[in-house]
Amino acid sequence: MPENVIRMMCPNLKCKAILGVPAEARGRVVRCKQCGTNIRIPRKGETPVTQPAAAPPPPAPAADVV
Ligand SMILES: [Zn+2]
Repeated sequence: MPENVIRMMCPNLKCKAILGVPAEARGRVVRCKQCGTNIRIPRKGETPVTQPAAAPPPPAPAADVV
C-alpha cells in the first residue's frame, strides 16, 4: 500500500465511500466523488474525521405562547 495516499471514509452517512486522497492534500478540502460532500483532510497528528461534519440541529421544542 503506498504511504502517500490517505484512505478515509466519506462522512456522509448516506455515502460512506472510501476515498483515497493524496498525502499532499492534508489540511485541505477535497470533494467526495460520489456525493460531492466537501471533506477536510486532517493534517498529520490530527484526529481523522470520523463523524458527520454537520449534524442537523435538534428541533426546538414548541412553546405555547399565551
Ligand atoms: Zn461521499
